[in-house]
Amino acid sequence: MVEHNFLAALQVKLGLIKKCLPVSGGDISQAYRVISRQGDFFVKYNPKPVALPMFEAERAGLNAIALTHTIKTPAVYAVDKFGHGGFIIMEFIESKSPSDQDLEKLGRRLADLHKIRYIDYGGEKDNFIGNLTQVNRVEKSWPTFYAHFRLGAQLQMAQSKRLLDTHEIPPLSQIEHSIREYIDVSHPSLLHGDLWSGNYLINQDGEPVLIDPACYQGHHQVDIAMTKLFGGFGSKFYHAYDDHMGTRPINQAETDLYQLYYLLVHLNLFGRGYYQSVARILKRYF
Ligand code: ADP
Repeated sequence: MVEHNFLAALQVKLGLIKKCLPVSGGDISQAYRVISRQGDFFVKYNPKPVALPMFEAERAGLNAIALTHTIKTPAVYAVDKFGHGGFIIMEFIESKSPSDQDLEKLGRRLADLHKIRYIDYGGEKDNFIGNLTQVNRVEKSWPTFYAHFRLGAQLQMAQSKRLLDTHEIPPLSQIEHSIREYIDVSHPSLLHGDLWSGNYLINQDGEPVLIDPACYQGHHQVDIAMTKLFGGFGSKFYHAYDDHMGTRPINQAETDLYQLYYLLVHLNLFGRGYYQSVARILKRYF
């Protein structure tokens, strides 16, 4: 049931609302398809104080991707507070299940996004991965950035939540060393940052649309490693991506080292179910 006062707040932005239908699939917020006189909208609401900065960051990420004109994102119409929490209103994407052709197109469009060369790694502002803070800094070195602000930050969080023991946490210098050893240098690319299969949609015209990003400038294979964490996007996607990107396919060490970040995030968000996968990678590479 949508709270009456929340509907009233939405009506201020959208005019008379005919229907507000729950949408499933999200981990963090309550999602709705809102049908108003002005058309259909997608709304996410979260009651926690983190909602407003989280939705501001989501808007910034979606707009950053949109500005590249490489791959579509939903237009964002409003971000506002409601009670102690907040909400975001965006374009509703009527989606369909992906065909092989659609997945090829997603691979090409993602490569177009990743081919754009940025100057630095990281970013000016912190944002969110799920509802956890994702720390950003502008940094010249990818191994330094990835070791300190991705793996290091999540390892520290896992330690403070007693999900990892102190002796299981490698020193930052060792993490940086392993990254230099296993990962080829590449230019900074704008990453989606949380690219699992629930975070893209295929619209009715067969165009891929990225949603729910955790953007920053990083090594392009980070997004590819994430696509493989829960089953993969299929061979058509990877062939199209590698072909269009003009780079070799991701290897096992890159996949493990980049998935480690997302596994740590899942450990910190959802608990010990992710411990074994984290421990296996830590033992193997550090
Ligand atoms: P959360 O931030 O809570 O994880 P998501 O942004 O992933 O929520 O959205 C939840 C679900 O809603 C998605 O899995 C997707 O199916 C659907 N969805 C997300 N954005 C849109 C949109 N703009 N239009 C239509 N459906 C959407």
